[in-house]
Amino acid sequence: MIKMKRQSMIIGSLLCLAALAMLPGAVCTDDDVLFQVSTIDALMQGVFDGIYSFDDLKSHGDFGIGTFDSLDGEMVALDGDYYQVKADGVAYPVLGNMTTPFSTVTYFEADQSIAVQNASNYSMLSSQISEKLPSINTFYALRIDGTFPYVKTRSVPAQEKPYPRLANATKNQSVFEFTNVTGTVVGVWAPEFSKGLNVPGYHLHFITADRKAGGHILDLKIDRATVKVDITPGFAMQLPTTGDFYNVDLSQDLQSELKKIEN
Ligand code: ZN
Repeated sequence: MIKMKRQSMIIGSLLCLAALAMLPGAVCTDDDVLFQVSTIDALMQGVFDGIYSFDDLKSHGDFGIGTFDSLDGEMVALDGDYYQVKADGVAYPVLGNMTTPFSTVTYFEADQSIAVQNASNYSMLSSQISEKLPSINTFYALRIDGTFPYVKTRSVPAQEKPYPRLANATKNQSVFEFTNVTGTVVGVWAPEFSKGLNVPGYHLHFITADRKAGGHILDLKIDRATVKVDITPGFAMQLPTTGDFYNVDLSQDLQSELKKIEN
């Protein structure tokens, strides 16, 4: 596992060196690329068919969040291990031949640490982090390890075709509450101008320290913690080449619908 990751990183570095040789002045920022599959607006409109394998996704990152074919649960990846938190609340290991309709990953390397304290809910945490982020015009991966007085998460059951809109699928979500739980928050911060592509602002998932439970974070409380921030100015997208994506209408503004789903 670790050996494979190193190999792919070495290959990545070699490709980068080759690019540098051909393009003098180019900068290698392979590790600072946020890679996403499909778009949030497609997912919101029920484009739930998995179109990208986790084997392939793992070659773009060791850290991130997303979902699964038919919207079967919440994905959390950290330290190179990928987990599927299903609607039963249990975190299962992800197999490489499974597929995702929407995910965002990167190779996590902290550029900055932000101390947060006495954040009694999601919005207090958000504003404490936002005060310290260097800019609102770029993408970040965020990681918070610690013991949390309270974390509220959700997961969604696999959907049947014809797929409903995401807003209807989340009406059947399972909600889990954890108290004094040790674990890791794995998240992404996307700028406002990326609306339609990703979730503007914070999108956080959670996994317990024993890697047995977690989900998409709806609320949380933090007494004292350090937020590790990976600045990811590179942004890459893999769009589906088959299926519902080709015909879905992506011209509308779905921001108010998205806000209702996220928290
Ligand atoms: Zn989520």
